[in-house]
Amino acid sequence: MKNCIFCKIINKEIPANIVYEDAQAIAFKDVNPVTPVHVLIIPKKHVPSVNYLGFKDKELIGDLFLIAQKIAKEQKVAESGYRLSFNVGKDAGQTIHHLHLHLMGGEKLPFA
Ligand code: AMP
Ligand code: ZN
Repeated sequence: MKNCIFCKIINKEIPANIVYEDAQAIAFKDVNPVTPVHVLIIPKKHVPSVNYLGFKDKELIGDLFLIAQKIAKEQKVAESGYRLSFNVGKDAGQTIHHLHLHLMGGEKLPFA
């Protein structure tokens, strides 16, 4: 999608600190981390938010969680704990309208 910053990262038009990539998904460090470990896991297909997912995306959604599990191990937070979250829409503070799963950890997280 033109003018989507995450599509630009996927297309390597802008740089990112990529920690994982396969045919369907890519993961990179958040440029403005709110925790010591803060990675975004995104589908390569442009989906604006969870609201736009369909049953045809079941496997893709599952992949995002399994990639998160793998990255959590690699980033050494699997045992200490981490949070996975999708922000959806304005009340949740979604700023980038390309589906992304936040993986946050590396310190005690506030309840949210
Ligand atoms: P959200 O508020 O859920 O839409 O989260 C968007 C996230 O994308 C924020 O945590 C931003 O810091 C992050 N972000 C924005 N631009 C970039 C970028 N170019 N590279 C990496 N992370 C980014
Ligand atoms: Zn996009």
